[in-house]
Amino acid sequence: MRYYPLLQDPNEAVVKQQLNSLLADNRPGVLEDLRLEADEVRRQWVGDAVHVRGIIEFSNCCIRSCRYCGLNRFNDQLRRYRMPPDEIVDTALKAAAMGFKTIVLQSGDDFFYTREMIADMVREIKKTGVAVTLAVGERPGEDYRAWREAGADRYLLKFETSDSGLYNRLHPGTSLDIRLQCLRDLRSLGYQVGSGFMIGLPGQTPEILASDLMLMRSLQLEMAGVGPFIPHPATPLGLEPAGEVALALRVLALSRLVLPWAHLPATTALSSLDKDGRRLGLTGGANVLMPNITPPEYRKLYEIYPHKAEVTDSPRELYQATLDLIHELGRDEAADPGHGLPRTTPFIREE
Ligand code: SAH
Repeated sequence: MRYYPLLQDPNEAVVKQQLNSLLADNRPGVLEDLRLEADEVRRQWVGDAVHVRGIIEFSNCCIRSCRYCGLNRFNDQLRRYRMPPDEIVDTALKAAAMGFKTIVLQSGDDFFYTREMIADMVREIKKTGVAVTLAVGERPGEDYRAWREAGADRYLLKFETSDSGLYNRLHPGTSLDIRLQCLRDLRSLGYQVGSGFMIGLPGQTPEILASDLMLMRSLQLEMAGVGPFIPHPATPLGLEPAGEVALALRVLALSRLVLPWAHLPATTALSSLDKDGRRLGLTGGANVLMPNITPPEYRKLYEIYPHKAEVTDSPRELYQATLDLIHELGRDEAADPGHGLPRTTPFIREE
């Protein structure tokens, strides 16, 4: 292995410099080498098993105005929906009975769902024994606490970009500091924490991407989601180019080399840009797939970007297609729920 030891150097400056040069080097051979190393490190650290998480996108209502996202509150061309809590729970229970070991509940930042409503849903779903991941955005620490006490295991909240100037331009009225405070709150409450960023955002430079990877490293994430930016025509960034698949794959491989223990999904955004995206992800560092099990009548309305992959199949068909892909790659579905692993490497100094 050529790059992995350098990327695990205890000296941050060495890692940062290495990331900068690997992100600026566009030769295809570099990408192939990184993918092979990422695949090897993935095998050594998290094995061949693929974790399948069923995601339910239960509301597309949102109070925020993120300039890349089709759910932003100024998009009046989108029909908004909210799944009633008992339908959310029912969808989750059916998925658990089908064999899903983790249920992810995701939504816009929608305060219609109160602290108690979400806590009640978590308690009901936890009765089946599945792991529960929440991804419902920025909320007060007391909400995060109540949901953790109700049994939620994990929380996903991407920092989206580590550059505070770019963050401010993309997210009017809020700040990277608030986002990072939420991540610290989640960590101190004992959640397994997932975060990540988009690749190819307008105004993003290779140096910013290197900082994004450094921020993931310093957060010592249990889960990391990195996917390409996809322009949505009804947003202010609608005419910008999408992130490049090759760059997204490079960053995914680097994510594995920087966070060897982490659970990394082959993201939906990647498969939306490339029909082979999930396979490319799983062979280049990823070990998680997240089929979308939102009831089909709502699924197409959770339009964070256009033409999201998987908009029509039923949860059962999606689960089967996911298992088929895993087996085709000579791998197996994980038998365990895929909780976070100890976050130390032989190279990282204990703090
Ligand atoms: N409200 C929740 C869930 C947001 S949707 C939250 O803030 O965490 C989940 C993720 O979709 C976001 O974190 C963002 O990284 C991604 N996303 C949104 N719009 C996108 C776009 N146009 N292209 C690619 N990814 C996008």
